[in-house]
Amino acid sequence: MSNSNSAAFDTWIKALSRKEVKKGTVLINREGTAKKSPKCPNCGSWIQHWETLSENGAPSAGNCAVVDCNGKTEDGKPAEIVGCHVMIKDDTDKKVYIAPLCTCCNNKADGTELVLSRDVTLVRANVQETCGKLAHEEDA
Ligand SMILES: [Zn+2]
Ligand SMILES: [Zn+2]
Repeated sequence: MSNSNSAAFDTWIKALSRKEVKKGTVLINREGTAKKSPKCPNCGSWIQHWETLSENGAPSAGNCAVVDCNGKTEDGKPAEIVGCHVMIKDDTDKKVYIAPLCTCCNNKADGTELVLSRDVTLVRANVQETCGKLAHEEDA
């Protein structure tokens, strides 16, 4: 077994999992999907799933990418960024993705439209097609 091959395979799986979307893209909150699986069974949480597949670091609290969101909780503290289940409104593929958004955007009702204030990397939520295929070299 070759470590460099499995690393290349992981890089390829991560690339297939990602979708870059532009500022102004309309996402649709899919909290109904999230309720069925509150955490990624492989990554431990949905924001960890996003960090693993996007290869981005943990987003800082309060730094939400939704227009008109101030990124604050009701008591004025920076809101934690979590992995939010979304679909892309104008996308024909109808796939569910994870977006790094704040807890208050994540908790909006299923079907709520969320407009992005900047370019964002989404990752697919389907664990069989994404993190479920990674080599998990740390276990070796
Ligand atoms: Zn995962
Ligand atoms: Zn927000």
